[in-house]
Amino acid sequence: MDLTTVREVCDARHRGRWEAGDAWLAGGTYLFSEPQPRLRRLLDLGRMGWDALRVTPGGLEIAATCTVTQLNAFVPPEAVTWPAAEALFAPCCRAFSSSFKVWNAATVGGNICLALPAAPLVALAAALEGECLLLAQDGSERRLPVTQLITGAGRTALTEGELLRSVRLPAKALSRRAAVRRAALRPQGRSAVLLIGTIDLKDGTWRMTITASTQRPVVMSFDRPPTERSLREAVEQAVGPDGWVDDVHGHPAWRRHMTLLLAEELRTELTADEERA
Ligand SMILES: Cc1cc2nc3c(=O)[nH]c(=O)nc-3n(C[C@H](O)[C@H](O)[C@H](O)COP(=O)(O)OP(=O)(O)OC[C@H]3O[C@@H](n4cnc5c(N)ncnc54)[C@H](O)[C@@H]3O)c2cc1C
Repeated sequence: MDLTTVREVCDARHRGRWEAGDAWLAGGTYLFSEPQPRLRRLLDLGRMGWDALRVTPGGLEIAATCTVTQLNAFVPPEAVTWPAAEALFAPCCRAFSSSFKVWNAATVGGNICLALPAAPLVALAAALEGECLLLAQDGSERRLPVTQLITGAGRTALTEGELLRSVRLPAKALSRRAAVRRAALRPQGRSAVLLIGTIDLKDGTWRMTITASTQRPVVMSFDRPPTERSLREAVEQAVGPDGWVDDVHGHPAWRRHMTLLLAEELRTELTADEERA
């Protein structure tokens, strides 16, 4: 796609002042996929030099510029036990309705900032208590949970020119047992439902994150694994009758049905050991 209104593409490290019509350019898989008449200048993040994935004492820091391919290839170091990383990273990367080419260009930051309901890395970050580091144009920094950054379908709490630098996943969340379920109208189609369940095997706390079927991530926490009925009631209450996404990728009634069905599958899978005990 030719972006005919764009006058300049510059290295984001030497950009000067933020101007009206500027946009951060990450992988460009969205920016170059449709007309962008509002844009005049693209600030290319490709040479920022940020480490894609950094294991820290507190968990894992994922740079906004980390590509889907890099995330998919991540193997936790031997010194840590992060079952959630092993269970979720690859399936969430595969949840992209995209080609090899998109995988190698699309970034974690671009996926989160675009904030589509079907954004698989929003699902991943929301399920693992991801916290975003945001850099404002005046040089100030703030941290915001990804669940607060995403305010709706295609909407975020980013201010004008604010840059997502990284997402931090805490070690405690990565240590949880986790499972994922997805439904789409076609095998390679855009996700219509993407659910992630996690359980802390030490204290029994349970979390379920609903994305793709809802406008923004819906995260539910339980002190103990819920019963089938209490989970169903919690989902219905958290999403509400009008909260289901309605677009070409799935009818809201079907999305609701599949969400409830897959939520129960997750509950059964993640509580199987406990019920056997
Ligand atoms: C064939 C195809 C299939 C796709 N399938 C999916 C899908 O299944 N699910 C899905 O969610 N998306 C999908 N997309 C849309 C898009 O490719 C992805 O969301 C991708 O992750 C965007 O990342 P990017 O690095 O290419 O972002 P870009 O296109 O470079 O940028 C996307 C937006 O985010 C802003 N941005 C980028 N990085 C930052 C940052 N660090 N800080 C602040 N703002 C930033 C940009 O200014 C722009 O507005 C698909 C696209 C194609 C072409």
